[in-house]
Amino acid sequence: MGRLLVTGANGLVGSQFKEDLIAITSKVGDLRDKKTADSIIAFYTDKDRQKEYAVDRIIHCAAKVGGVGGNMKYKGEFFYDNIMINTNVIESARQHGVKKLVAFLSTCVFPDNVEYPLTESKIHLGPPHPSNDAYAYAKRMAEIQIRAYREQYGLNYTSVIPTNIYGPNDNFNIENGHVIPSLIHKCYLARENNTDLTIWGSGKPLREFIYSKDVADLALWVLDNYDESEPIILSTSEEISIKDVVDIIVKTMNFKGNVIFDNTKPDGQFRKPSDNSKLMGYLPDFKFTPFEVGIKETVEWFEKNYPNIKQ
Ligand code: GDP
Repeated sequence: MGRLLVTGANGLVGSQFKEDLIAITSKVGDLRDKKTADSIIAFYTDKDRQKEYAVDRIIHCAAKVGGVGGNMKYKGEFFYDNIMINTNVIESARQHGVKKLVAFLSTCVFPDNVEYPLTESKIHLGPPHPSNDAYAYAKRMAEIQIRAYREQYGLNYTSVIPTNIYGPNDNFNIENGHVIPSLIHKCYLARENNTDLTIWGSGKPLREFIYSKDVADLALWVLDNYDESEPIILSTSEEISIKDVVDIIVKTMNFKGNVIFDNTKPDGQFRKPSDNSKLMGYLPDFKFTPFEVGIKETVEWFEKNYPNIKQ
């Protein structure tokens, strides 16, 4: 077997792969540009140059991502960056003979109005939630591209749909980040400055969180073992309210001040419960990292690295 190349290797999931691999970060090159994407993939897949170290598998994590704030504010960028990155990486992988590719989608791809729980077959059954539709449509197109390439070229490419991921190395930006990194950052500042901790929305929405290390382990399993065209949902299928997430972060960070819910800020989708039975059918014994443990490790990572964090 050849080597593995990971795009987005500095990111939330990409940074969690511990095996020997080719790590493509945004510093290596701008994957929105076809020529750049092509020259990177051409270089590492070149058998004359790389010999037995030539890349033949890709886990494609690179993406422009953000929480409900970023998704609403930068719709143009979220659409353009993601559709270009995905289109270029998947096409260059095909052109240079990459045998297996696993692309990351997101539960944002699912329709807003759809019967719960979400399953792999429901992606295209209606428009996504308006707060993140630009991102969602760009990601949906990766699924279409992969299916088309499978049909026309017979390529064993596929995709995964993780629920809300959290962990070390995330983007901790308070305005544009996802809820857990934003809350950890805000809680840290509130504790240090003796101020209130302000939560967006009502705290009532429900989400399913998965630890980045579990996602990396599952993506490696998918790479070597999952050969279906249909995406596979990576999820604990356990819902938790934003209010309960706040309580766990507050306790873990030993914050003693006031917690305020700001209803002028968006709640986003109320819930998006997923059905993980396909994953569990393949991996019945997989043990997810308990949420409290993942939060503790993430908070420890944040406190150790602050202020040298992505934000
Ligand atoms: P989503 O699952 O795509 O909506 O992604 P988010 O990570 O942005 O999760 C959003 C949920 O957390 C929404 O219900 C928000 O109202 C709530 N939330 C509470 N405080 C914050 C915050 O500081 N940042 C973000 N992004 N969301 C927050």
